[in-house]
Amino acid sequence: MSEPQTISVSATISPATTAGLVEKTPLERYQPPAKPSLVGLSRAQLTEALASIGVPASQRKMRVQQIWHWLYVRGARRFDAMTSISKDLRATLDQHFTLARPEVVAEQISADGTRKWLLRLPGEQSLERPHEIECVYIPEADRGTLCLSSQVGCTLACSFCHTGTQRLVRNLAPGEIVGQIMVARDRLDDWLAAAQRGTEIPAASTAVGAGGNGGQRVISNIVMMGMGEPLYNFEAVRDALLIAADGDGIAISKRRITLSTSGVVPNIARAGAEIGCMLAVSLHAVHDELRNELVPLNRKYPIKELLDTCRNYPGLSNARRITFEYVMLKGVNDSLGDAKALVKLLKGIPAKINLIPFNPWPGTRYECSDWERIEQFSEIIFNAGYASPVRTPRGRDILAACGQLKSASERLSARERIALRAMAMTD
Ligand code: SAH
Ligand code: SF4
Repeated sequence: MSEPQTISVSATISPATTAGLVEKTPLERYQPPAKPSLVGLSRAQLTEALASIGVPASQRKMRVQQIWHWLYVRGARRFDAMTSISKDLRATLDQHFTLARPEVVAEQISADGTRKWLLRLPGEQSLERPHEIECVYIPEADRGTLCLSSQVGCTLACSFCHTGTQRLVRNLAPGEIVGQIMVARDRLDDWLAAAQRGTEIPAASTAVGAGGNGGQRVISNIVMMGMGEPLYNFEAVRDALLIAADGDGIAISKRRITLSTSGVVPNIARAGAEIGCMLAVSLHAVHDELRNELVPLNRKYPIKELLDTCRNYPGLSNARRITFEYVMLKGVNDSLGDAKALVKLLKGIPAKINLIPFNPWPGTRYECSDWERIEQFSEIIFNAGYASPVRTPRGRDILAACGQLKSASERLSARERIALRAMAMTD
């Protein structure tokens, strides 16, 4: 990933300038606060943090285990709450670290129970206006899914995606990704103590988490489908998801964690090997010509190369299929011929096909396919032997549905507007 850059010319970028973009360069870097949060540190990093404040080597493993439990099973927000740790150590921890999560700026609850949180993250410069990202919780009868963001904005610029029009890009740090889970569990009262009290959350799922708490878990599944392209922030996403899956902490099974990518081919195999989560691929078109237009990254990694990589995804089997996402765009990719071609294209890959009704946003040139067409399309796929659930749009009234996530960061500061000039293709 290239270094962030700033140049000193003030101007805005016209849509014509951005139209040919394959990738944008992150313009900002995460700057850790003077007093860092322990949220999002791996066990090894936590061990180092304890060493740095003088915890003897012989105690570190036990202390890491204790802090991990307080953080990720109990949801402690203050060191004071960590009653199994000596008072002196709690005070020392408090002097050097925090347990901070991203700041919640707003919470919206949709009529269908979907919740969206607007979270504030610091900008690169301390005096600069902070960035905002969104995180969405979707309750269903048998599960509760949390949709996480991986970037402020997105490295890519898919033509049908609102997030893609946001020009500022910053990769999130692992603590900011894990922090979204922490915030959601705080707001949904989804920690061990709540499970012991038998607290009922309205519209909550009855799904039982994979963790050892035996209680009811409100958040049972995670999808990396919010703002950003997770495979352009690979290490941070990997480290965060490994924390989410850790059996002594948040303990969401890797089979309940799905990473969605627009097709960053070199990192797909890495996701399988180093994270071991489920994979979703945003396909959206069956020919390169159209996919180049919808998902410009296709010019770098065309359909054949993408599907060959999918065929070799570690752990792929009929029990662990890849989900192919296909957004339904009226008159663009929704002919019945497209449906037949899609089935042919995916032959031999253990797959699910997820049809997503296009979620419109202000200024888009696309429309959602007619419902009748979506049903016909779905039927062709179903008859070919694929489950083809149509993803019900959720939270439309609070702009929380797929591709509508675009934070207020778009209201650009002067500095950001200047920085836009530095936006460049990295390939
Ligand atoms: N960057 C990743 C993950 C985030 S987008 C990716 O592209 O896969 C999550 C899903 O929402 C993707 O399948 C994406 O193509 C889809 N999406 C984006 N904009 C949409 C819109 N306006 N309507 C419906 N789905 C959209
Ligand atoms: Fe980025 Fe995904 Fe939107 Fe494409 S669809 S711009 S990859 S968030």
